[in-house]
Amino acid sequence: MEPGPVFLVLIVAVIVWLLLREVNAWYWKTNQIILLLERILEELRHPDREKTPQAESRQWACPKCQHSNPNNTFKCEQCGYNLI
Ligand SMILES: [Zn+2]
Repeated sequence: MEPGPVFLVLIVAVIVWLLLREVNAWYWKTNQIILLLERILEELRHPDREKTPQAESRQWACPKCQHSNPNNTFKCEQCGYNLI
């Protein structure tokens, strides 16, 4: 077997794997879950930070309509999109 087709098959396999990985991450909401877990961890590390004015301005942008929601909401206030 020539090295050319093998190399091509490897490249196609890597591209397909990357696409499937993105679809999988979207379907299982992996990125949103990681974001939520990071927020929970941040909250646990600094429970008093929420009371500062800087913390109140932290917003959670809706991926559907780009509306900025308070970080303690799980659904978009404007369109009702599930943020988690
Ligand atoms: Zn929205």
